Amino acid sequence: MRENKSTKAERGRCELNSSEKEVMKQIFTEIMSFGKPPTIAELQATLKKSSGDIIKVINTLEEKDILLRSKETKEVVSIYPISLRPTEHLVVMSDGTNFFAMCAMDALGIPNMFNQSATINSQCEWCKQKITIEIDDAEIKSQSHSDIHIWSPQERKIPAAETCCPLVNFFCSHSHLEEWKIKNPDLAEKGHSSLLEQAYPCIKECWTRYGEMIGLR
Ligand SMILES: [Zn+2]
Repeated sequence: MRENKSTKAERGRCELNSSEKEVMKQIFTEIMSFGKPPTIAELQATLKKSSGDIIKVINTLEEKDILLRSKETKEVVSIYPISLRPTEHLVVMSDGTNFFAMCAMDALGIPNMFNQSATINSQCEWCKQKITIEIDDAEIKSQSHSDIHIWSPQERKIPAAETCCPLVNFFCSHSHLEEWKIKNPDLAEKGHSSLLEQAYPCIKECWTRYGEMIGLR
């Protein structure tokens, strides 16, 4: 678990000033309501700040690797832990909102961050079989496979959304994880795995704190 904490969950502990929290909260609120992040002009109007101030905050969030914009269009493509582009991990919240999570751990974190029950729809990275995990009242209520594992790399390179996140995946069983490791020996030695039930308490704690820090729960 130590590696998980120092890589993925690290951002849940990062320091954010009040302007950063305010902008992030507004971005998440708009994504929840409209399925897309607000423009700079919309943020400026809602938060009654200058565009210069908003841009400064967005730039800082990007430097902190919390938010990522498209190099071409400059639109926000991810804001940790949500991806605005489809990923393998779809989180269906109890209020009907759908999010794509940046990685398997983020998918488990999202219900805790927003203090909602949710169903995670993902797949085994090896056999591509559908994996579902139901989080109810912050606990794992049901899971499609009894032996779900999560693999994650130890090293976090920036931007995580493009480097480390795509590698943090679910496996339907320990044997499928082992088969994947044999086929990916270079990767396998640079990461670690844990059983879903073992990884979950830390994920729950970290993303609960993250949601509290931004004021989302
Ligand atoms: Zn599998």
